[in-house]
Amino acid sequence: MPALYQARIQGRLAPAPLPRYNAPMYTLGIDIGSTTSKCVVLRDGADIAASSIVIAGTGTNGPARALEQALGGAGITMGDIAYTVATGYGRMKYENADEQLSELSCHAIGVHHMFPSVRTVIDIGGQDAKALKVNDRGRMTSFVMNDKCAAGTGRFLDVMAQVLQMDISDLEVQAARAKKINAISNTCTVFAESEVISQLSNGEAISDIVAGICDSVAKRTAALAERVGVEEDVCMSGGVARNGGVRKAMERALGVPVLFSPLSQLMGALGASIAAAEKYRDKTGGL
Ligand code: ADP
Repeated sequence: MPALYQARIQGRLAPAPLPRYNAPMYTLGIDIGSTTSKCVVLRDGADIAASSIVIAGTGTNGPARALEQALGGAGITMGDIAYTVATGYGRMKYENADEQLSELSCHAIGVHHMFPSVRTVIDIGGQDAKALKVNDRGRMTSFVMNDKCAAGTGRFLDVMAQVLQMDISDLEVQAARAKKINAISNTCTVFAESEVISQLSNGEAISDIVAGICDSVAKRTAALAERVGVEEDVCMSGGVARNGGVRKAMERALGVPVLFSPLSQLMGALGASIAAAEKYRDKTGGL
């Protein structure tokens, strides 16, 4: 028996490294949004090894920080990543990706991975809102988008949270306490802000005001979804889906249940990491 093998059997030498085809295969999805950077590291095309959300979007160091956190969480380096797909508003500015893919396609793929029965996705992000139809293979077939007006987007909620001096994550807590929904009649964010300030000075309950704010966002985006045609199952994705007040208001506005994953804000990055695994498999002829 060769001396090298004998030494290994006796434990005097570290075992030989596993052949490459036995090592896990990692792909990266990086979603560079207008306000927030998100990463998902996927293992073997199926399992989330690590993820990150950094509240700093395109044009900042947010993407680099999100990447560092996700790689650290997975205990790997960039050299271990087989393929990277970038998505989101700032995807074209990210130079280290193998490919770019629209956030519409990535949200469709991510949501389909979580909920294969979903046919309508409502994605509300920091500066836009989209409604898209998804087929039974997780491919986006049509969409409508609002990227012209802050009303009906995360920006509207961020401004209102600031006026009410609360964290964005507190809006759902307040909305759940509401006894009534204080309607906001102005659609323009600037006028709606004045309306909220005057409701506050009239002594209205903060929870009722917040319920009205959530309702306003949901109604605007529900109208957008109706333009693309709402087909069940319906799912909300994007950062705003984390707000239970908006989700409940969306169910009221659409009259159907709305599915949600706690990973809603990561759905684009998840879809990108799945697309990266598929692209890598196509290129190499198997994982
Ligand atoms: P983008 O990709 O455009 O940067 P995201 O999909 O990441 O946008 O969503 C960002 C929005 O998500 C923020 O503007 C904020 O309103 C909302 N958001 C972020 N975190 C939370 C939270 N914990 N609870 C409720 N809403 C949140």
